[in-house]
Amino acid sequence: MDIILDDESKRLLCNQNIEYVNNTDTTLEKVYFHIYPNAFSKKEFAPFEKDEMEKAYPNGFNEGYIDIKNILNNDKKLEYKIKGDKYDVLEVNLGRQLKPNEKISIDLKYNIKIPNSVGRFGYGDNTINITNWFPIACVYDERGWNLKSYESVGDPFYSETSDFNVKMLVPKKYKVGSSGKIINQKNDKEKVMYEIQAKRVRDFAFILSDKFDIKTDSFKNVSISTYNLNKDLSELSTKIAKDSIEIFSSLFGEYPYDTYSVVASDFYIGGMEYPNLVMIDQSLYNEKNKFLLEYVIAHETAHQWWYSVIGNDEISEPWLDEALTEYSTILYFEKKYGAEVGEKLIKTMEIQSKNYKSENIFKPSTQYENSAEYSLNVYTKGAVAFNEIRKKVGDKLFFETLQEYYNKYMYENVNGAKFVELWNKKGVDIDKIVSEYK
Ligand SMILES: [Zn+2]
Repeated sequence: MDIILDDESKRLLCNQNIEYVNNTDTTLEKVYFHIYPNAFSKKEFAPFEKDEMEKAYPNGFNEGYIDIKNILNNDKKLEYKIKGDKYDVLEVNLGRQLKPNEKISIDLKYNIKIPNSVGRFGYGDNTINITNWFPIACVYDERGWNLKSYESVGDPFYSETSDFNVKMLVPKKYKVGSSGKIINQKNDKEKVMYEIQAKRVRDFAFILSDKFDIKTDSFKNVSISTYNLNKDLSELSTKIAKDSIEIFSSLFGEYPYDTYSVVASDFYIGGMEYPNLVMIDQSLYNEKNKFLLEYVIAHETAHQWWYSVIGNDEISEPWLDEALTEYSTILYFEKKYGAEVGEKLIKTMEIQSKNYKSENIFKPSTQYENSAEYSLNVYTKGAVAFNEIRKKVGDKLFFETLQEYYNKYMYENVNGAKFVELWNKKGVDIDKIVSEYK
């Protein structure tokens, strides 16, 4: 990808070359991409709950979109259609048959308008959050094409892993946190050209600010950076990031990438995971919110194992990554502060989930009424369910199975059935254990 940021108009001018490999067992004549910026093009369907629109757009609704200029295969124009409820699915007609294992080169030229919005994608007073932004290949799995639109509840994403080579030209004043590693950098008077590489990641996100206080540390071969907006908390956020990587590496298996970045952002929804990078609501960086800050950083870091390295369809089976990630967050506190602290957190979750009307934790994210109901079921009850499994099978089998899961499905996409099957093979009927939570 070649990207130029036009700071004044808040636009990205992009050229993207995709080496598209048909990894399915079907011959393809059309391929699909999510073009999520279009989900921000109209107020009626912007991916936020109605009562959160003011938080998402503190200065009023402001549109975001992608403007596709052309799509080529070796200089030959390819026909395309824009589809989806929110105009956020791109159908590209390849003009020929792409057989299993065959490759095709696709060139896309497009501009992106970044909205003035403090959700995942947009800019606020401090940061420009470029996430879920480029045409990203839709997943073709045993159910066929996954072409769902950008919904407001949950993290509505599902993607494959790829290698990214990115060149971006940005004004010199900005510091950039990204999913990749900067391998080259050229400066002139006004601009910087960054060359960034990210291998075997399922998305590529970057965040810019002229205010970042960057702190760097390392764990084994992993370079850990935090991008902070409140200097007083830079040291703490770096310590939490490092402890999280260390704790989860020892519990589940090594973090397999070179870099990890925790980025304070104009983002009102707590935290959000991307490969090698997480964004954290900058308002959590203060003395009063220290516990929450630690909780959110630990949670988003656990997603590096359950979402980034191991992927899944986050719309139809959000429990698979979220419940496990939420339980991993409890494990972080248990390992760092002792068993009692972990138990106390689980007790609180048990009370919260019992006081709430019982729901199925295995529903697709689109079937929950709102984010509160979604999070109480999928996160809170889900974490309690994982704790039940651990109590039943014991620590040895519990962690062995999670490690096996991690090693077996690295960089792939899994589903609930595969996860359950892994436990069944060890004589553990997790369906039965979890059934009381259904
Ligand atoms: Zn999460």
